[in-house]
Amino acid sequence: MSELNKQAANGGSSLFPTYARYPIALVKGEGSWLWDDQGNKYLDFMCGIAVTNLGHAPKPVKDALVKQLDELWHVSNLFHIPNQEAAAKLLTDNSHADAVFFCSTGAEANEAAIKLARRYQQKVKGNGRYEILTFAQSFHGRTLATLTATGQEKVKEGFLPLPEGFRYIPLHDVEALEAAITDKTAAVMIETIQAEGGVLPVDPAYLQHLAKLCKERGVLLIFDEIQTGMGRTGKLFSFEHYGIEPDIFTLAKGLGSGFPVGAMLAKGELAEAFSAGSHGSTFGGTPIATAAVKATIETMLSEDAAGRAAETGEYLVSELRAKLAGNPFVHDIRGQGLLVGIACAGPVAPVVAEGQKRGLLVITAGPDVVRLLPNLLVSREEVDQAVSILASIFADL
Ligand code: PLP
Repeated sequence: MSELNKQAANGGSSLFPTYARYPIALVKGEGSWLWDDQGNKYLDFMCGIAVTNLGHAPKPVKDALVKQLDELWHVSNLFHIPNQEAAAKLLTDNSHADAVFFCSTGAEANEAAIKLARRYQQKVKGNGRYEILTFAQSFHGRTLATLTATGQEKVKEGFLPLPEGFRYIPLHDVEALEAAITDKTAAVMIETIQAEGGVLPVDPAYLQHLAKLCKERGVLLIFDEIQTGMGRTGKLFSFEHYGIEPDIFTLAKGLGSGFPVGAMLAKGELAEAFSAGSHGSTFGGTPIATAAVKATIETMLSEDAAGRAAETGEYLVSELRAKLAGNPFVHDIRGQGLLVGIACAGPVAPVVAEGQKRGLLVITAGPDVVRLLPNLLVSREEVDQAVSILASIFADL
């Protein structure tokens, strides 16, 4: 293909066109703020989709990374990696989990969860269970297994045949849930708030029932905490809101403050299902990645980032409700902590575009929901600024 045709085929870029990109090139970030290559400044209420939970370039994480860059970048997981051990211990000390597998992305963490669930049922329990139940509108990633687990048809188009052994159930339908669990069911995987699906919180009573049912029927419960974890909902992990201890849970996004890292965590009795050679990842838990994880968790704990997310989230929601009250386009303002959705009567892409023009970055969750994901240490003044920009946008619609 000629250079001209190549450029025409891909809008002048050498990248696959897998993202519909906004017309902004961001080049610098600090705290709650981002700057583009034209020198324009933006208040960041999307955090790279729930990743920079401590703001951009948080000093303790930056310092830990710089120190680690001076010492050691990469060795194989065939060696002991002290940072990895320390980061895993921080995670197990601060949750009910006993074992951690590090990887590099959310999808990879969910793949590990699916593999562990099947292997535990098949090798440890010896019951041949393989089926993974997930929910309509859920999102679990874009690898073949995780896009199959995802309860949205659009992510599956053109990728047939999909892996076998997945089944979907409508959320909040107790009868459908009870009927779907059979002696083939290995695990149920759920997000406590369907984030990509529209910031839809799952009813706590439904979650309790699900946890009880899984226990009674020998089914593993997997919580996908990739977007809801790392303080985002006002607790370090969202399951803490419900007093539920999932057998397996997954993290990524905020885990490394922007350094790409994911983790799959499980209760001790599941650990034996993975033995040497049964699962792995070259980059999983490298010295650099786990230096970022360690510093992120330590900073989250010392700054009470989750507690601050809970408080600021309440303030954000009450301000939004006050300032957007009576707007006929706004249907519902919902969420938990600093995972907040403004559900609207129609497409919200214009709200996102207008926000960018007025210096505020927000994102959609499905076509009709504006999603707000500020960093957990965001100030009240910054929240006021964001709410005032949003109020002016909604008033002008
Ligand atoms: N699970 C949930 C709940 C997510 O929100 C996402 C990403 O948005 C993923 C999994 C996939 O994570 P990644 O894009 O890091 O593979």
